[in-house]
Amino acid sequence: MSTIRFQALTELLSRVPKEVHLPSNKVTDYYGELVFNTDSMRKYLSKEAFKAVIDANQNGGAIDRKMASGVAAGMKAWAIENGVTHYTHWFQPLTDGTAEKHDGFIDYGDGGHMIENFSGDLLTQQEPDASSFPSGGIRQTFEARGYTAWDVSSPAFIVGTTLCIPTVFISYTGEALDYKTPLLKALAAVDEAAVGVCQYFDKNVTKVHTNLGWEQEYFLIDEALYQARPDLALTGRTLMGHSSSKDQQLDDHYFGSIPERVTNFMMELELECHKLGIPVKTRHNEVAPSQFELAPIYEEANLANDHNQLLMDVMKKVARHHKFRVLFHEKPFAGINGSGKHNNWSLGTDTGVVLLAPGKNPKGNIQFLCFVVNTLMAVYKNQDLLRASILTASNSHRLGANEAPPSIISVFLGDEVSKMLDMIVEEVGERKMTPDEKTALKLGIGRIPEIILDNTDRNRTSPFAFTGNRFEFRAVGSSSNNAAAMTALNAAVAVQLNEFKASVDFLIEEGIKKDEAIFQVMKKMIIESKPIRFNGDGYSDNWVKEAEKRGLTNITSVPESISKYLDPESKKALVGSGVMTEKELEARVEVEMEKFTKKIQIESRVLGDLAINHIVPVAVAYQTKLIQNVQGLRDIFTNSEFEELAGARKDLIKQISSHISAIKAMVVEMVAARKECNLIEDIRESAFAYDQKVCHYLEEIRYHIDKLELVVDNEMWPLPKYRELLFNN
Ligand code: ADP
Ligand code: MG
Repeated sequence: MSTIRFQALTELLSRVPKEVHLPSNKVTDYYGELVFNTDSMRKYLSKEAFKAVIDANQNGGAIDRKMASGVAAGMKAWAIENGVTHYTHWFQPLTDGTAEKHDGFIDYGDGGHMIENFSGDLLTQQEPDASSFPSGGIRQTFEARGYTAWDVSSPAFIVGTTLCIPTVFISYTGEALDYKTPLLKALAAVDEAAVGVCQYFDKNVTKVHTNLGWEQEYFLIDEALYQARPDLALTGRTLMGHSSSKDQQLDDHYFGSIPERVTNFMMELELECHKLGIPVKTRHNEVAPSQFELAPIYEEANLANDHNQLLMDVMKKVARHHKFRVLFHEKPFAGINGSGKHNNWSLGTDTGVVLLAPGKNPKGNIQFLCFVVNTLMAVYKNQDLLRASILTASNSHRLGANEAPPSIISVFLGDEVSKMLDMIVEEVGERKMTPDEKTALKLGIGRIPEIILDNTDRNRTSPFAFTGNRFEFRAVGSSSNNAAAMTALNAAVAVQLNEFKASVDFLIEEGIKKDEAIFQVMKKMIIESKPIRFNGDGYSDNWVKEAEKRGLTNITSVPESISKYLDPESKKALVGSGVMTEKELEARVEVEMEKFTKKIQIESRVLGDLAINHIVPVAVAYQTKLIQNVQGLRDIFTNSEFEELAGARKDLIKQISSHISAIKAMVVEMVAARKECNLIEDIRESAFAYDQKVCHYLEEIRYHIDKLELVVDNEMWPLPKYRELLFNN
């Protein structure tokens, strides 16, 4: 009998839900208590220091050394009062997740005695040994120093006994080595460009911020079963496993109540999030069994993304308290839904207007349509960049698979907005519009209802959908850092808005009235970007054909998609907007390629090991039992009786043999292919080689293992099966 699997199943029977007690029934009693937020700053900082932080926060810019000392002193006092002994600069390297290096406050004072030290310099800058973080060749290991610098716009927070200071991570020569730096630059770029456009409508607008509301999907798996699946533990997904007789066909998980163990996990998770000032609000079951979703109220994009990164960390910790493991992989189980991280994105002004929501009058609606059309155009021109920002080794299993958007980027607008755009195309003529025509057009535009949410949120199959007051970028992967997608999108929109403004200004200089100039440029853009608009079923095969006819790209290979970062249009968006230097962009491509290669390499090794050392021996043992049985039958029966009785068993023996042979042969071939790929020095070439020469073995070997799972004695099968992993909360 396979011990680990059955031990795990036995352990599962004795699980009791862990009780969770909230400190108070009112969230507001403890919300943000672990954050150095405005309230605590007011209490612990001098008036000047407080003002400096708020200023830097609102207007960008740095805090001078003297002021930083004051802030550090206040922060330290607050932290120590909350039981903190260490501090760390918290950053987001180009690997997955976040990094931190903890230092104690402990230090020598002037007289040689021990003190608690946390100076302004320690707050604003740190030099972690950066040699083990990927840099895409920017930083040679002999000059391993990179440095982290305080991001004043994201407040410090406490995890356990550590004060965490959100920072950017930069090489010694000044290049970004993280996700946050380009995101901040992209947010600034879109701010500047959008303010320029807003000025056509309202001179009072001086700042435009980006809103992000992410929806995090994930799976929860029992800890004991997880431990019995080396593939889950090492790669985040099941590399084998036949689908369960029942999975998501009945949708009963989606509509069912949340199991008690899971509810308790969610309660504790929400409690921890609220203490950390993460405004999580919504929780529910998702379509696949054991799949769930969590969403906060949207926030400014940089903060929202920090919160998502922090959340993923907190989730992993809290899951362990409840004897769960959380899976962020985009497709942990073949054949059922994968997990995404919808990025709800919009722009908002300092005058309180959401630019992607219909306005209250014709003028507001024209502004709204301007931003919709510019977004459309940006997405149209930057399909490949947007895909490059989200297509990873793990997300490639989801895009284009079951219940997930395809690898084609298209935009869903819904009927209302589509009609408006078509109307602009029809009614804006080549020659000057008469006052009557203009009034008629504006009246038409004025008819966009303020609330169009209900009409637009029905299409769940679009990778990029307008949902009433925002766009929802749904193709983003559940395990990813949103910053990659948000950087690409904001940079693309920034460049587009600048182009739009230049075209409108040009017409105005030619003597055309402002509103007419805006209409004319919009009309052109609506016509040009038409192919990207698709309101139909994005999951259908017809769409793939139709998209091809429209000239939209459909790239499923990860290295090919990553390469598109270096296309002229992508460079124009990222380098042209000042978000990245050419060198940084190239380095990023190398890092992404290397991540892809490493992930496939690990999956391939794990699969080889499991196939040869776990599955084949069990299949052989079972086959031996069958052979013994057949021999026994021959001993006690006559020849003709034997032929009749043992026929099926003999076939089974043959079947098992052929699967075993196939597995063994393919593992040998796969190892040889890996060796060949590993000899390639060029990082990009190596990624392409892995994609073409190694990836397919993962599916092919799996096929034979899954067939064996169906015939081998259940008692002997070593790995927890899909039904056990998925239906045990
Ligand atoms: P869904 O129906 O897609 O599940 P929700 O109402 O749960 O939608 O919202 C999903 C996310 O979108 C939430 O984080 C929400 O705060 C966010 N959101 C709502 N309006 C906007 C907006 N204008 N801009 C950005 N995000 C928004
Ligand atoms: Mg949504």
